[in-house]
Amino acid sequence: MKKITVIGTGYVGLVSGTCFADAGNDVTCCDIDQVKINNLSQGIIPIYEPGLKELVHKNVRSGTLHFSANVPQAILDAEVVYIAVGTPMNSTGEADLTYVKQVAKTIAENLNGYKVIVTKSTVPVGTGRLVEKVIRKYSKDQHPFDVVSNPEFLREGSAIKDTLNMERAVIGATSEKAFQIIAELHQPFTSNIVKASLETAEIIKYAANAFLATKISFINDIANICERVGADVTKVSAGVGLDSRIGNKFLQAGVGFGGSCFPKDTAALLHIAEDCGYDFKLIKAVIETNEKQRVHLVEKLVNSLGELKGKTISVLGLAFKPNTNDIRSSPALDIIPYLAEQGAIVKAYDPIAIVETKKQIGYQCSYTENAYEAIKGSDACMILTDWQDVKNLDLAKVKQLMNQPLIVDGRNLFKLERMQELGFTYLSVGRPAIQ
Ligand code: NAD
Repeated sequence: MKKITVIGTGYVGLVSGTCFADAGNDVTCCDIDQVKINNLSQGIIPIYEPGLKELVHKNVRSGTLHFSANVPQAILDAEVVYIAVGTPMNSTGEADLTYVKQVAKTIAENLNGYKVIVTKSTVPVGTGRLVEKVIRKYSKDQHPFDVVSNPEFLREGSAIKDTLNMERAVIGATSEKAFQIIAELHQPFTSNIVKASLETAEIIKYAANAFLATKISFINDIANICERVGADVTKVSAGVGLDSRIGNKFLQAGVGFGGSCFPKDTAALLHIAEDCGYDFKLIKAVIETNEKQRVHLVEKLVNSLGELKGKTISVLGLAFKPNTNDIRSSPALDIIPYLAEQGAIVKAYDPIAIVETKKQIGYQCSYTENAYEAIKGSDACMILTDWQDVKNLDLAKVKQLMNQPLIVDGRNLFKLERMQELGFTYLSVGRPAIQ
């Protein structure tokens, strides 16, 4: 059992802190956001993540999980300090390390004995060494400490499952002692431990995300070719993905990737490459294909509908993927403002991400409580997230409710034959158009 403090109680900090507590450690999750901490202390969970609420409540009740806005005190009390703050993309595409540096300074000022300082945030190569330098600089009593890189691989929407049964833990430590401490913490979750240097661990995280992003852009490029030659990309994915060397995951063509990680981590990796003088052409193309894919979907809509001014368009799905209310870099955040700018009347639906979307784009669209309400009276419907309740729509009812039966599907949710039978104009990604 270890006394662990997790600094930053977002998707990553809250989930890992809760899972460490569930494994029997004494965990304090802290954050500078007092409102978040107040809410958590009252059992209110700020994010939607299946199973998270139950696990937080269970561990708070059993006394292994605590919340605090007093970051210095939480550091003083801990043997292991996890840094899980955000590393957003700055205006040039680099990872912004402001919060990581702030936290490193606070750790230095509250170092009262040996501690293992672990970076869980996704950070560029060299950040572990930077954290080490900042702590040495600001620590008065020069207590011993070790820095570890232990990147996070959870997926939003299945974060608890991904953590409790993680496929691997990557541990880049500066000492054997620190490695052993962090390896032991992971024993309940996995036996696959990748032992690496700080720098190697840091780059593993970017390489993993960049590879997955590459698969998505690759299949989207194939989809765009399929559209030109009359092939069906879903069959191509099946045919290719059954090859065990390739695998079928992240091989679904669509509107492209969004979320808090892939766009920022591919951009950051490009900077890491540039900084060390390497021209990483492949990742540039991955980013470009992804950006174009959103535009391409809107072009399909415009080509079919004509001028958007005065047209009513329903948008189904605001979250960047299902089972999360995270809308960071989600396609909807680009597409809805564009449609509104062109004079379209946009009605948007999402089962859980409306509150977040309102905060970002306000009332550039109206929001509905269910998909049918959004669809009612619309001249076209755009599908941007593959939510289960959108997959389950009664398509005959959808057709009846629409002004014109035009669906532009960025997630390839429906069978072409069925859409043809029902008489829709159905424009999906990498499959023949039904019109
Ligand atoms: P988030 O924005 O949800 O949470 C970050 C939290 O850190 C916020 O609550 C913020 O208030 C807090 N914070 C900022 N500065 C602080 C400070 N000085 N002291 C205390 N708290 C502070 O971010 P997230 O999605 O949890 O991501 C965290 C990191 O993990 C990022 O580097 C991200 O790239 C990485 N990551 C995220 C995911 C994911 O799916 N979200 C997956 C793997 C890795």
